[in-house]
Amino acid sequence: MKRLFFTLLLAAQTTLAAQTTITPPANKYSPADDVKMGLQAKAEAEQQLPIMRDDEVTSYVEGIGRRLVNAIPANLRHPEFRYTFEVVNVREINAFALPGGPMFVNRGMIEAAHSEGEVASVMAHELSHVALRHGTAQASKATKYEIGTIAGAVLGAIIGGNLGSVVAQGTQFGLGTAFLRFSREFEKQADIEGSHIMASAGYDPRDMANLFKTIEKQGGSGAPQWLSDHPNPGNRQDYILKEAQMLHVTNPVSDTRGFEQVQAHLKRLSPAPTTEQAMKKSGRGGQTSGQSQPVPTGRVSAPSSQFRTYTEGDLFRVSVPSNWRELPGGNAVTFAPEGAYGQTNGQSVFTHGVELGATRNETHDLRTATDELIASLASGNPNLGRPSGYDNVSVAGRKGLRATLSNTSEVTGQPEAIQLYTTLMRDGSVFYTIGVAPRDSFRDYQNIFQRIVGSIQLMD
Ligand SMILES: [Zn+2]
Repeated sequence: MKRLFFTLLLAAQTTLAAQTTITPPANKYSPADDVKMGLQAKAEAEQQLPIMRDDEVTSYVEGIGRRLVNAIPANLRHPEFRYTFEVVNVREINAFALPGGPMFVNRGMIEAAHSEGEVASVMAHELSHVALRHGTAQASKATKYEIGTIAGAVLGAIIGGNLGSVVAQGTQFGLGTAFLRFSREFEKQADIEGSHIMASAGYDPRDMANLFKTIEKQGGSGAPQWLSDHPNPGNRQDYILKEAQMLHVTNPVSDTRGFEQVQAHLKRLSPAPTTEQAMKKSGRGGQTSGQSQPVPTGRVSAPSSQFRTYTEGDLFRVSVPSNWRELPGGNAVTFAPEGAYGQTNGQSVFTHGVELGATRNETHDLRTATDELIASLASGNPNLGRPSGYDNVSVAGRKGLRATLSNTSEVTGQPEAIQLYTTLMRDGSVFYTIGVAPRDSFRDYQNIFQRIVGSIQLMD
């Protein structure tokens, strides 16, 4: 059935143009689900983020947005969707869009752009993720365990880019953000579809290639958040330029005064704060419950030799020392003793314990998937060392890998050891266990990690 539909669609499209045909990925949610999840996350985002109330800026961004929305091809229009555009008064180069249509563009993104076409590029890319329903398509592929926390995960993943674990309540590793980060396949789809939307909205799709150059240049302390949420699928600029050659720009935008005026206007305002500064100042980003968070002290009692078994959704079962507490997160669960976990600099951290979770992977190859997992750990943990290699181990009776990495604890400033175990789940997701302990007590904890991993039962 599916294949037939695909063939028909292709046949219909080839008569139109030589441009690449983008087929929306399989999705078990309804467009109404997209809207519902998106609105929930939007309300949260508006509460947490410093939204700009500046008519000149917002109406400018909205104008570009409307133009792009009107250029969405008929097959990707969902009557339920409501596209809205808000500007966040922070410095970082970032933008994100939520399922069903709400979009947030950072002021820093507008300031960094060299042309209106570049602003339109990032918006067209985000819009394409929405129109292709990538958020829920990604969730459709997620494991059952992840589905249980999908609203939080979608929010965490998308807002995570802006707020890090402040809202996402992700772990110290930033896995919360990495987890629902779009796959390379979806990134390429959003680039290509975005270039089509740009061309029919009157923008030069080559500006998208320029934009990526602009973003990459803004290195600073690290690659802009937008790039880590929207990773380069490889040869990004090349394939965009190639696609652009096949596109005919209809109704070209020639007036660039709006862009110049907005940039000049922004220059006259006091500089945008960083997201972190904005959150601190407003007291936003705390727990919505208002409860005070425990502060990790790094001083903990030794792991109990008694183990307690936990069943996590219908994904897995694991036994951990009975004096470790269960700390559910957006996409993962952490077990840690009192004194070993809490908030430091707005980050959810732990100094002793394990984190277990699953993350999607396209490759279906354990080694590559583990490499990618370590790369995403490293992006949130600048001091993380590289493993010298992988050991072949068994995890839940399956072929698994183990890697030992060094890191510096955010809490104590002391060296810590990270032990990572991975195995593949039936749907290709990587199931991981991350053990963390101070380096000087790693030898003792290694045995605990081993025993914990030995107890894991996967139920996929
Ligand atoms: Zn993207």
